[in-house]
Amino acid sequence: MKKRRRFLAPFVRPLLIGSFCGFVSSTSSCATAAPAISGVIDQSAASEDGVRLIYLGTGGWIFERGNDQVITGPFFSNPGLVKTGLLPIRSDSDVVDEFMSRYDVSGAHVILVGHAHYDHLMDVPRVALEHAPSARIVGSKTVKNTLGSWSGVGERVDEVNDIAGDERTVGTWMRYGAGVRIMALRSLHAPHFEGYTLFKGSRVRNLNAEPRWAREWPDGTTHAYLIDFLNPDGSIAFRIYYQDAVAPPPLGFAPRAVIRERPVDAAILVPATFDQVDWHPEAFIENLQPQRVFLGHWENFFSPPVSPADPLSNFAHFESRLERVFDGEWWKPELWTEFRFPTR
Ligand SMILES: [Zn+2]
Repeated sequence: MKKRRRFLAPFVRPLLIGSFCGFVSSTSSCATAAPAISGVIDQSAASEDGVRLIYLGTGGWIFERGNDQVITGPFFSNPGLVKTGLLPIRSDSDVVDEFMSRYDVSGAHVILVGHAHYDHLMDVPRVALEHAPSARIVGSKTVKNTLGSWSGVGERVDEVNDIAGDERTVGTWMRYGAGVRIMALRSLHAPHFEGYTLFKGSRVRNLNAEPRWAREWPDGTTHAYLIDFLNPDGSIAFRIYYQDAVAPPPLGFAPRAVIRERPVDAAILVPATFDQVDWHPEAFIENLQPQRVFLGHWENFFSPPVSPADPLSNFAHFESRLERVFDGEWWKPELWTEFRFPTR
């Protein structure tokens, strides 16, 4: 295992973040990545009973079927690269409100958070307080402790560290609302570059003041999730796999027994820094047997969230590897792209 330095002089950090972006940019080959897609992709065949998947940019999605709604860690504040490296950062409530108001998520049952880095957790308190006031927040102990007592939503976190599943172990299904169940999956945040992971660590005590620096949002244990929308008879109408960070397989896998019973209808995979681990995405295609694949968290989140977005890198290599093992449909969505699919 590579030795990783845990502590860095403050002036080194922006350089590293900068070199992270430079690094991922330099991995681009001559080939050009596929263009991102926008608008509405409707394959529901006018089914009344279908699902909607709406991309909110970065790690954010809304998954919806009837009155059942699930949100995944939205992020709109997007502090710039220099600011993130050198200055305090905080959630921008006006920006969060502007973007989150586009869809009514007031009935959302749950907000899923895969890890506690600022680009997945910093905007969650505002979303949970103002937009999804009855939603539980699902995440790690570090997610719960980082939200602590200052955010007003720390008590709403359901911790999953001890109930997560993996390739061989079926984790605990958590029920939310009438038609949703969720299983956390043990994962691991891939390094950002050269075996180095930024803002690594866990938080064992409740924070009572808002974090000020990007480094005060340590990743904690990383989880992926299976989300099942259920029919009234308990059968699975639609199954989604969600990850918010690249993972070294088999970490991040769903239990084999669960996938045997029903493969994934929609798998959301992260391309950023995929070359820091082996067999991402190939191993996940093998494990999840997905019918459709979506790339999430592919755009440059150091610039304001706009559509069309700047890519974080040229992901042509990732996309060609995906196509070598996956012959179904896949999409790289722009902000607000909406997908509609039938259920079973
Ligand atoms: Zn991260």
